[in-house]
Amino acid sequence: MREIIIAGAGYAGLRAALDLGAAQRKGQLGEARLTVVDRNDYHQVVTWLHDVAAASVEAEAARIPLSRLLGDGTLNVMQGDVRGLAPKEQRILLMDGTLLSYDRVVVALGSETLWPPVPGLRDHALPLRWWNEAFALREAIMTSFADAAATQDAAERRRLMTIVVVGGGYTGCQLAGELSHWLPALADQFGLSIFDITLRQIEAQPRLVPNWQPQLSSQAERTLRQKGVQLLLDSPLAEVGPTHFRIGERPPMPYGVMAWTGGVQAPALLAESGFRTGAQGRVVVDDYLRAEGFPTAYVAGDCALWMDGEKPLPATASHALRQGEYVARSLQREFHGEPLGRYEPTKLGLVMSLGGNDAVGTALGVPLYGPTAGLLKEGIESWYLSTIGVK
Ligand SMILES: Cc1cc2nc3c(=O)[nH]c(=O)nc-3n(C[C@H](O)[C@H](O)[C@H](O)COP(=O)(O)OP(=O)(O)OC[C@H]3O[C@@H](n4cnc5c(N)ncnc54)[C@H](O)[C@@H]3O)c2cc1C
Repeated sequence: MREIIIAGAGYAGLRAALDLGAAQRKGQLGEARLTVVDRNDYHQVVTWLHDVAAASVEAEAARIPLSRLLGDGTLNVMQGDVRGLAPKEQRILLMDGTLLSYDRVVVALGSETLWPPVPGLRDHALPLRWWNEAFALREAIMTSFADAAATQDAAERRRLMTIVVVGGGYTGCQLAGELSHWLPALADQFGLSIFDITLRQIEAQPRLVPNWQPQLSSQAERTLRQKGVQLLLDSPLAEVGPTHFRIGERPPMPYGVMAWTGGVQAPALLAESGFRTGAQGRVVVDDYLRAEGFPTAYVAGDCALWMDGEKPLPATASHALRQGEYVARSLQREFHGEPLGRYEPTKLGLVMSLGGNDAVGTALGVPLYGPTAGLLKEGIESWYLSTIGVK
């Protein structure tokens, strides 16, 4: 009996699990036992987390119980926190001390928030990488507005109604866009004036989404400014206190809630487990998405460092999905004694939402703006849910 373990039930892991489960049901995997381990008992629709934080989707819609997705008994679904791997011994250690042995593992543990050494940042800013963090951010903004409604002090009210998004990458832009629609409604709900709202987005580089084509960055900047987002570009965050923050040498600026979306890195446990890692702590993989030197360990999604020429392939849901699919296919080939086909990334593009119907991005190299891009983004989300069996 071959033991196949999928560590992480996110975009890459869930796709691999669904495809391997389907193969198992058709008797195409031979004697194999499939186990999925995740620290949560749900799959997170990460590409909706900014919507959860800005209350534009129901929080519960963005986490789907694994029992609903993988509960037909084909796979063994385990809730457990992976502490580390021993790739030479082909074992996984969980936080509770459980040791799991595998013949093949799919490492798909996603990425974690990267905290640069800005004094006070980690103590006061709220991250947005997991469902519970999105929920906590939404609650913090609601509490800040509730406190604003309770105070008689006008300056304090304006401070509490100042929401700051740090990071001009696609997570920060998507969050700022959604907040620009929600905050006026929230002010209304608490009987507050919309003129007391300040929504700021801060980016250290001179433009938003600096790794995109300049015309897409300009379009994103124009759209967000039209929605009332105050963009502070070329503005490196220097220090964060409980009520004020500083950019460079400028005087302190007040804020009520700060969201940190400034970067991610692969989990530290990967390097600690003996995998060779490179940019963003991601695992260096061979042509078949197997960890260098460990052919029994496939790595997929944000954990995998695939070099696309000089640059790492971006950490996106769409690449994670395709990699999960590819790994499931490779495992079937391996077990049938067939040669593996080299992994080739499919570059479909990336669309980021900017609140309401607005979005910006590229599809197959074609730049897209406004409601057309918004419709495409919506279509992608619905399509994704349908592929995992959610209507
Ligand atoms: C707010 C936000 C919006 C985004 N929007 C987009 C978008 O519009 N389009 C796009 O393409 N990409 C987007 N991304 C990026 C995209 O979500 C990630 O690239 C994608 O989730 C990576 O998939 P993955 O399978 O590698 O990891 P994930 O989907 O994050 O899955 C990792 C899984 O591993 C589990 N896990 C982690 N550590 C452990 C552990 N130690 N033990 C057990 N289980 C563990 C987690 O619970 C999770 O289920 C967005 C990211 C964020 C944060």
